[in-house]
Amino acid sequence: MKFTVLTLFPEMIEQSVTHSIMKRAIENKIIEVEALNIREFTINKHKKVDDYPYGGGCGMVMQVEPIYNCYKSVEKKLSKNKKVIYMSPKGKPLTQKIVEELGYVDDIVILCGHYEGVDQRIIDEIITDEISIGDYVLTGGELPALVLMDSVARLIDGVISKEESHQKESFSNGLLEYPQYSRPKEILGREVPAVLLSGNHKKIEVWRHEQSLKITKKNRPDLIKKK
Ligand code: SAM
Repeated sequence: MKFTVLTLFPEMIEQSVTHSIMKRAIENKIIEVEALNIREFTINKHKKVDDYPYGGGCGMVMQVEPIYNCYKSVEKKLSKNKKVIYMSPKGKPLTQKIVEELGYVDDIVILCGHYEGVDQRIIDEIITDEISIGDYVLTGGELPALVLMDSVARLIDGVISKEESHQKESFSNGLLEYPQYSRPKEILGREVPAVLLSGNHKKIEVWRHEQSLKITKKNRPDLIKKK
């Protein structure tokens, strides 16, 4: 899978994928990440990428031309099995289901907005999906793009090891994950629940399911209703 990020701040993307699991996945050639600087595709002398919004209002809007030129510079290399995603608070909320669906795509192009966002005509021209990472507004699309890439990449075969498996994680069965414990058995006067030390796998499974229900009821009652 290849991620191509169209951004005004490519270094934000490049630096963030040089750590931990994403770094390993890139080194092992399981995923590829390329960040393109939209500003390099301007044709005006001052490399200006934004302008005032028609109709008035505050802030600036990213213009069509540099984004379009930037996209065109990679379009020919993209597979047919592609998505061109605009990260936007106005998009569909990102869920594990969407993440799983994106796991089957070969080429994901991600457009990161800034200022008041991008001219609607570039969305109409090149974007296949608009995705939001939550009901809040950030200054730019780079962090949302990294969230999307990370969540999708970790589902691709070979990116995370068996030990880091995502089979029983939050959302995989419509519930949040049960609490996790590791060594030592006791610390800060707090003990690991006895059932986890019992070696009785059936009992452990039942306990974990009960804990999953409990935490989901408390923090995400909407998920229980859905289930
Ligand atoms: N004026 C826009 C609005 O009200 O919907 C907000 C623009 S925001 C300040 C600038 C950029 O940050 C957006 O174009 C988008 O790329 C990104 N962004 C901000 N919040 C986001 C979110 N919750 N999910 C995804 N992208 C977001």
